[in-house]
Amino acid sequence: MRDRLQEYDPEIFDAILGEERRQQAELELIPSENYTYPEVLAALGTVFTNKYSEGYPGNRYYGGQTYTDAIERLATARARDLFGAEHANVQALSGAAMNQVVYYGLLEPGDSILAMDLSHGGHLTHGSPVSHMARVFDFHRYKADAKGRIDFDEVQRIAEEVRPKMVLCGHSSYPRDMDYAGFKRVADSVGALTMADVSHIGGLIAGNAVPNPLEHGFDVVTTTTHKSLRGPRGGLVLCKAEFAKRIDKSVFPGLQGGPHMHTIAAIAVALKKAAEPEFREYAARTLSNAQTLAGRLIEHGVELVTGGTDNHLIVVNTIASFELQGREAQQLLERAGLATNKQLIPDDPLPAQRTSGVRLGTPAPTTRGMGDAEMVTVADAFVRALRAKDDEAADAVRAEVQQLCARFPAPGPLLPASA
Ligand SMILES: *Cc1c(COP(=O)(O)O)cnc(C)c1O
Repeated sequence: MRDRLQEYDPEIFDAILGEERRQQAELELIPSENYTYPEVLAALGTVFTNKYSEGYPGNRYYGGQTYTDAIERLATARARDLFGAEHANVQALSGAAMNQVVYYGLLEPGDSILAMDLSHGGHLTHGSPVSHMARVFDFHRYKADAKGRIDFDEVQRIAEEVRPKMVLCGHSSYPRDMDYAGFKRVADSVGALTMADVSHIGGLIAGNAVPNPLEHGFDVVTTTTHKSLRGPRGGLVLCKAEFAKRIDKSVFPGLQGGPHMHTIAAIAVALKKAAEPEFREYAARTLSNAQTLAGRLIEHGVELVTGGTDNHLIVVNTIASFELQGREAQQLLERAGLATNKQLIPDDPLPAQRTSGVRLGTPAPTTRGMGDAEMVTVADAFVRALRAKDDEAADAVRAEVQQLCARFPAPGPLLPASA
């Protein structure tokens, strides 16, 4: 197959090869990224992409659904079992779509939603003014306190003022555990629905390494499937049985047409992997690696938002630590072979294109098999590249990072680094 693609479309083939080499040679520290399983890639590249399956198993618009029904039933059953959910929908095309499904399915246009401020760790899809959702629903925001922790007195105060229909928690750059019981208490006190978007930590919840909002009585939980869960790009909506019909109708026919059945096959494979004992070890190690990485950075005098981490991600204040804007730090680190992303810090005085920080995460290095010793090496390399602030030093660090990466190859049908 690869030979045929190479012969027919060398431009695309070369780009695929280039990307495979880049992923092997660089260390992926972007906390939302991971290396998926070879089995998932195998399921993705299949003839399920040819098939229209609008509807749900047993109730589709077109015929020929024997095998699509089989994989979707497996995927939803595995999702329910893994997360302890009464209902699961696996058709959302990605994270942004899965959150729209919930807003449109459970609320009316104009309803108010209380969600985390973007610069304090919330996500664009939680009603950022630049997202279309902010034109449809009335978002209000809570923030973290000066130490970067969520202040529940403040959340309660805003909830009483706004009387939201939904309280939403979840994050893409909040390095601490969520107090789901705290959010549930606030929501109950004003009669609001509870939603947790656990996109970043879905795999850590599946691996029992961090708390599960469903165990605290949350109404709806959403998660992407491609971050710590290590699956293909997609989104899960997990909910109580009483919301099942509204959620399913909101996905189809409400928001989407035909589901991507090749992705659903691959999601089913990833969920099977996530139920294995090895995945629990992976989740625990992702956390311990983050602790080690954060601890070593702190030893170097680096300033971290909230002073540390409870999960897989670390937010570094690059202005305070290195007198570098996030964008400059990201560029230096990329040259040094460390892939990170610039990140807003709480109440960041700089715009999103520049930022005062970068975000690091351990899901991908942990997938490569790295552990404590390697995290110390990575922290040292990170600090060296940013202290020197010049290209020569970054190039020297890069050589070292490449050696480390060669010892811990990324999984997947990737070519050996020498090919
Ligand atoms: C990544 C993420 C999303 C969006 O996922 P996409 O697949 O990029 O659309 C939504 N919410 C949170 C909290 C995320 O981290």
